[in-house]
Amino acid sequence: TQYFLDRIEAGKQWNAYLDVNAHLSLEQAFKADKLISAGKAGKLTGIPVAHKDVFVTRGWKSTAASKILAGYQSPFDATVVSNLGIPDENNPHGAGMVCLGKTNMDEFAMGSSNENSAYGPVLNPWNAAYVAGGSSGGSAAAVAAGLAPIATGTDTGGSIRQPAAFCGLTGIKPSYGRVSRYGMIAYASSLDQAGPMGKSAEDCALVLSAMSSHDQRDSTSLADSGEDYGRYLNQSWQEASTNPTKPLEGLRIGLPKEFFADGLASDVAKSVNEAAKTLEGLGAKLVEVSLPKTKLSIPVYYVLAPAEASSNLSRFDGVRYGHRASEYKDLGDMYQKSRTEGFGAEVRRRILIGTYVLCHGYYDAYYLQAQKIRRIIAADFQAAFKECDVILGPVAPDVAWRLGEKSKDPVQMYLEDIYTLSTNLAGLPAMSAPCGFNANNLPIGMQLIGNYFSEARLLQVAHQYQ
Ligand code: GLN
Repeated sequence: TQYFLDRIEAGKQWNAYLDVNAHLSLEQAFKADKLISAGKAGKLTGIPVAHKDVFVTRGWKSTAASKILAGYQSPFDATVVSNLGIPDENNPHGAGMVCLGKTNMDEFAMGSSNENSAYGPVLNPWNAAYVAGGSSGGSAAAVAAGLAPIATGTDTGGSIRQPAAFCGLTGIKPSYGRVSRYGMIAYASSLDQAGPMGKSAEDCALVLSAMSSHDQRDSTSLADSGEDYGRYLNQSWQEASTNPTKPLEGLRIGLPKEFFADGLASDVAKSVNEAAKTLEGLGAKLVEVSLPKTKLSIPVYYVLAPAEASSNLSRFDGVRYGHRASEYKDLGDMYQKSRTEGFGAEVRRRILIGTYVLCHGYYDAYYLQAQKIRRIIAADFQAAFKECDVILGPVAPDVAWRLGEKSKDPVQMYLEDIYTLSTNLAGLPAMSAPCGFNANNLPIGMQLIGNYFSEARLLQVAHQYQ
C-alpha cells in the first residue's frame, strides 16, 4: 500500500486520482496485515485497489467528477466497495482489499475520453498528449501507470472496455445484474454495470468474483451472482479435449461483419484480425456473423441513456447534496442556479436531450422507438449466438486520440462508441483485452462479447490468448 501511495504521489501528472487519503489506506492495510497474521486471509487480502469516483465510499470524497458533488462525503460504502473491502462485523464477507483512493472520470460517467471531468482530463500514460479514454479513464491510467494494481470501473456504453483498450489493459463488463448498483452514482440505470480493470484476465476474474453478489438493496441484482469467474481459466474449451496445443478446440468465434466495416482504422483492424488468427491457432473456429443494427445502437443509446440520466440527476437539486448557489430569489431560482453552476456542459446537454425525448408528444417518437429497437438489437445478438459461442471485434474504431481533438464536437465523440453500446443495450457481458500497438506505440484492444452469464468463458478465452 505504501509503495502505491508513493507512486500516486510521484505520478500526479496523469491526473488519475481525485481523492487520496494515505492515513485511511494505511489503516486498512494494517487491518489486512492482522488478518494475514491470524491466518484469516483470502486470495485478495491486503491487495490495494483504486475505486472509480462513481462508487460512494466512507472516508474518501465521492463526487462522480462533478462540481455539484464537490466535497461530498458519503455516510456509507457502495456494495462494490464493501464487497472488496476489509471485513468487519457489518461486512463479514469483505475480500480484504485496501482502498487506495478515488479515480478521475468523466462527469457522471458521461463521455468517451475523460475530458468531461470537472477536475481536468486524465492523460494517457502511454503518451501524455493523448486521452486515456472514458469514462473510467482515471482507473485505466492508474493501473497503466502503476499507481494501482487493479481498479474498479463502470460501463454504461463502453466505459470499462474503451479506456482499458486505450491504456493497454484488460477490463470486463459483466452481464447486467451481476454486480450490485447500490451506492454507484446512477447514470442510466438500465445500462449501468460495474467491473474490474486490470493487467490480465486472471486478475479481473479474481476481483470480479469478489465484486459480484446478490444484493437486496438493488432490485435488478441477480439472485445467483456469486461465482468463481476464474474457474475455466486454465481449462480447455471442451472438457474432454486431449490436445494441449489446441485448448480452444470446439470454440466458435463470430466476427460480426458490421464491426469490420467502414470507419474502422486499418491498424486496429489488422491487430484484431491477427488476434483472431492467434485464437484460430489455439483451436478456435472463425465464422462470420451479422449484427445488422450495429449503427442504430448510437441513436438508440443516445436517446435512452440521456432519458434515464435526466431522471436520475433530478436528485441533485442543491438541497440534499453538494453545491448550492450562494444567491437566489426563491426555491425555483435556487434549483436552477445550483444546477447550472454545478453541472458541466455535457451533463447539461444530456439532461436537455433526456428531458426532451421524455416530453409528452416526443416520447412516442423517440423514447418508445428507441426501446423497440433496443429489443431488436438484443434479438440480433441471440441470432448471432446460434452460430458462434463468443463474438470478437474491435473495442473502438481507433486508438486513443489527441487531447482536445474531439471535445468540440459531441457527435464525433458519440460515434466512437459504436462497437460498445449494443452490448449494454442488450445487457450482455463483454470484455476488452490488449492485442497490439499502432505505429505510434498506442495500445489497441480487442473486444470479446458473450451470451448472458458467460463471463467465466470470456475470461477463459482472453486468458488463453494472453
Ligand atoms: N461514452 C458513453 C457515454 O458517454 C458511455 C459512457 C459509459 O459507459 N459510462 O455515455
